[in-house]
Amino acid sequence: MSGRDTAPLPPAPPGPPPLPSAGFHRTADGIPAVPGAYVLLIRMGQPLSVALPGRPPVTLAAGRYLYCGSARGPGGLRARLARHLSPDKTLRWHVDRLTCGGNAVGAWIFPAGSVSGGPDWTECALAAALEGLPVPAPGFGSSDCPTCRSHLLAWPGGAGLPFVPVPD
Ligand SMILES: [Zn+2]
Repeated sequence: MSGRDTAPLPPAPPGPPPLPSAGFHRTADGIPAVPGAYVLLIRMGQPLSVALPGRPPVTLAAGRYLYCGSARGPGGLRARLARHLSPDKTLRWHVDRLTCGGNAVGAWIFPAGSVSGGPDWTECALAAALEGLPVPAPGFGSSDCPTCRSHLLAWPGGAGLPFVPVPD
């Protein structure tokens, strides 16, 4: 990410337009095998205690959560979301605790370079776009990230999202 700190910021847009998501996908079947970023929707039917390294444990209440991530490796978004949407996996990332203990409903995807010439979204930019939402577990998914408090946000009932469409 060289140049990230020195590039001039573009002028702020007059208002927040909807983020150019390539839709909400409940399975990996229609997701392209290209690099990109995503926001994963997870429903927790019961509370879950999570302990991140160097932090006190926190309990995530039952409810809806949004996890911001990106997929740059082989298989891109399709492979990554196939993994997230499968309940059977070896626990590797923080978010695996949620997708195994709860229900990974689907994901909004942001394929790199393919949506109306817009920016290549990163998980950090997506988390920033969701900054009004509660942060239930600071550091979740962002232990290597210098800019984000968390890549996991809670999505309380009634809270709007900057994506279309919004699933039930
Ligand atoms: Zn980040």
